[in-house]
Amino acid sequence: MLRFEQVSKGYSGGFVALDRVSFELAKGEMAFLTGHSGAGKSTLLKLISLIERPSAGRVFINGVDLTGIKPRQIPYVRRDVGMIFQDHRLLMNHSVFDNVALPLVIEGFTGRDMAKRVHAALDQVGLLDKARCLPATLSGGEAQRVGIARAVVNKPPLLLADEPTGNLDPDLSKDIMRVFEAFNQAGVSVLVASHDLGLIARMRYRTMTLKGGKMINDGLLHQEDSE
Ligand code: ADP
Ligand code: ADP
Repeated sequence: MLRFEQVSKGYSGGFVALDRVSFELAKGEMAFLTGHSGAGKSTLLKLISLIERPSAGRVFINGVDLTGIKPRQIPYVRRDVGMIFQDHRLLMNHSVFDNVALPLVIEGFTGRDMAKRVHAALDQVGLLDKARCLPATLSGGEAQRVGIARAVVNKPPLLLADEPTGNLDPDLSKDIMRVFEAFNQAGVSVLVASHDLGLIARMRYRTMTLKGGKMINDGLLHQEDSE
């Protein structure tokens, strides 16, 4: 599904945020990406969603090498990648329904076809009854679920989340992780960046650890590692 080959990313000023990172995420796999603040987690996700481009190395999605991709092809690649942010980035003056519908509107869906898909996505995150609400009236956990519904509404095979539980208490965090788990069990590949080692260790999934831009560990994280 996803392959990094010796990927480095330097920012202007010469700062190396990622240093020769290689890994593969199989189709249908779920994994965590962890490391301290500044370790390079966001940068790695931005290379997948084509917000940033690598300085060296290659990134493949579904066998497609993103290195040579033309600007006009970027929307087609992004369509395969659902992205969830810590601050959910909802449009505050639009309803929950309209927020979730946005990716479909961009793809040209309208009417009942669009509504059916939006309702299906809201149903999957348990928020059908909030469709008409404005985001400001939602709790933090609910707002994050809307962000997830928006990311999955066009059924991308790959979901990326950047600190999706950063603003949530432990119980709500666990609930959000269960939502990702459910999508994974339905066949979606999932990569979640988080520095919450306690939560990650309890979930028992493959965990890749970045430190200073280098991949220093890749495997199951044990409970004692997080203490
Ligand atoms: P993380 O998500 O693990 O906190 P980031 O990928 O956000 O790490 O950042 C890795 C390093 O790269 C940090 O030192 C950060 O300050 C730096 N960095 C991130 N984005 C930029 C940018 N646009 N320009 C310069 N430096 C950046
Ligand atoms: P996150 O919390 O997701 O790791 P950050 O707060 O590190 O994100 O970064 C927020 C934004 O600022 C990102 O777009 C990142 O690329 C940019 N950024 C981070 N560090 C720097 C930096 N040192 N110089 C310029 N831009 C940066």
